[in-house]
Amino acid sequence: MAEGRGEAAPEVTEVIAALATPPGRGALGIVRLSGKGALGVARAFLGPGEIPPRRAVLRAVMDGAEVLDRALVSLYPEGSSYTGEETVEISAHGSPYVLGRILELCSAAGARPARPGEFTQRAFLNGRLDLTQAEAVCDLIAAQTRLAHRSAISRLEGGLSRKVGELRGRMVAALASIEAALDYPEEEQGAFGVGSPAGEVSLILDSVRALLAAARRGRALGGGARVAIVGRPNAGKSSLLNALLGRERAIVSMTPGTTRDAVSEPCDMGGLAAVLVDTAGMREGEPGDPLEAEGMRRAAAELSGADLALLVLDRAEPLAGQRALLKRLAQDARGGARPLVVALNKSDLPSRVEARSLASESLGASVVEVSALRESGLESLCEAVRAALAPGGCEGEACALALCARHAAAFEGCLRELGSALERLGCAEPELAAEHLRRALGGMDGVVGHSAPEDVLDAVFSRFCVGK
Ligand code: GDP
Repeated sequence: MAEGRGEAAPEVTEVIAALATPPGRGALGIVRLSGKGALGVARAFLGPGEIPPRRAVLRAVMDGAEVLDRALVSLYPEGSSYTGEETVEISAHGSPYVLGRILELCSAAGARPARPGEFTQRAFLNGRLDLTQAEAVCDLIAAQTRLAHRSAISRLEGGLSRKVGELRGRMVAALASIEAALDYPEEEQGAFGVGSPAGEVSLILDSVRALLAAARRGRALGGGARVAIVGRPNAGKSSLLNALLGRERAIVSMTPGTTRDAVSEPCDMGGLAAVLVDTAGMREGEPGDPLEAEGMRRAAAELSGADLALLVLDRAEPLAGQRALLKRLAQDARGGARPLVVALNKSDLPSRVEARSLASESLGASVVEVSALRESGLESLCEAVRAALAPGGCEGEACALALCARHAAAFEGCLRELGSALERLGCAEPELAAEHLRRALGGMDGVVGHSAPEDVLDAVFSRFCVGK
């Protein structure tokens, strides 16, 4: 059984009811009831006869003195149902009238209509599923391709939870070893079961990085890779987006800061289906604010959960004003947070960007010259994006995990904390290292749902349909 919120779970007693099958006519339709007293609610309108646990029995559904239908009724006692609560499933004929009437009878007997995803939410709250598995239920229902299905089923089977659990265990051991060294400085390193804490943290960091990279490849091949277009105002982000999409999607303007909302569009990038995200407008701060600082703030928000950063540099402007953003993205890419591709835009204009300095600042990221205006260089750009997202295809189980943006953002946060922990260990500051490690642990816990804030949970469960 997965670890959900454990003993922190609030007691849920209200009986909820919903149609578990799609609305409309069908051979069968299933009404599901869950909560303490679900059987009592069902008994109020079922004909006589015992309802033994875990055995489907045929019973009359009574609408007052009249028989409404004859249905197969299954009772799952508390502790052995999907939600973990007492659950009754009534499998009736798939008539919208019959099913609607059964739901009304449920309400009359004291049940209330379930909210979207509420059955799965209760399963999570009762520790039947963790958050990655609950999300996988939603993805499994929505899966339309083999890769999407593999990803969902592998997470539902606990693939991601196991990986998180394993990494978490290693983090706890490293933390224990750092804390033990703090408490007993005279003991030799290694006496607490882990080699050098720095060595171990660095290995954990590699594992998280590998997990992110594999999952990113999976997402790219599955058609969901998010490519965030970032850069200073007027670099040509919107123009490039339009050129890549081949139509006027984003508003292009001579006035900096005209793109006010993030625009996201599916786009074929060299045979790979991606989602392009144009960054929101800038220039909302105080007049005279350095544009670059604002650019970096916006970019940070857009980048959270993106699989690749596509940095648009303006070739007609000196690199000086665009350097800090480039530097940060290149360092992120080197650290494994997300790959970077640089589009050196406005190749139709004379260059004011010094090639050597650009090469040294981009730390090995691909740099492609393009002109969004003339639509030149776009094919090479797409190829560079494709190569950065899916180098060497996708094999193995990790790839099938194809993390959603929420997981990717959490793992990126973990990478940053682990990097800082490693730095602190290098400077012989174990207390600070331990603090970063604790934060990395908190990030891992958030992935599986321990300590996940309410709004995150709401966002996850609101994606569900009613009845699931
Ligand atoms: P954004 O603020 O980064 O989204 O930039 P826009 O796409 O709105 O472009 C800003 C200005 O640069 C507009 O006047 C564009 O026409 C111009 N521009 C964009 N790409 C090119 C290009 O490749 N060459 C030239 N000469 N101008 C461009």
